[in-house]
Amino acid sequence: MIYEYICSVCQEVWEDNQTIDNREKPCRERCPHCKAENSVSRAYNAPPALSSDGGKGIQTRTPNWMRDRLKNIKKYSPGPNTINVK
Ligand SMILES: [Zn+2]
Repeated sequence: MIYEYICSVCQEVWEDNQTIDNREKPCRERCPHCKAENSVSRAYNAPPALSSDGGKGIQTRTPNWMRDRLKNIKKYSPGPNTINVK
């Protein structure tokens, strides 16, 4: 399976061929581009087949990778802020 990953530090997006069992593995490793730790999230691209049903399958909620990124931003920003991650 080809999975897409995104680094929240260098904003690099890349594809990697992983088994389903290992698909979260790059998220636990350093970014292969900038070597930052805990910066890699899985990016989700809806396969084209899913959008051929008239848009019924389109999710409007925040994608997981973006939620993870917001969590990271929240975690690393000093002091209180207005980001509310649910
Ligand atoms: Zn990076």
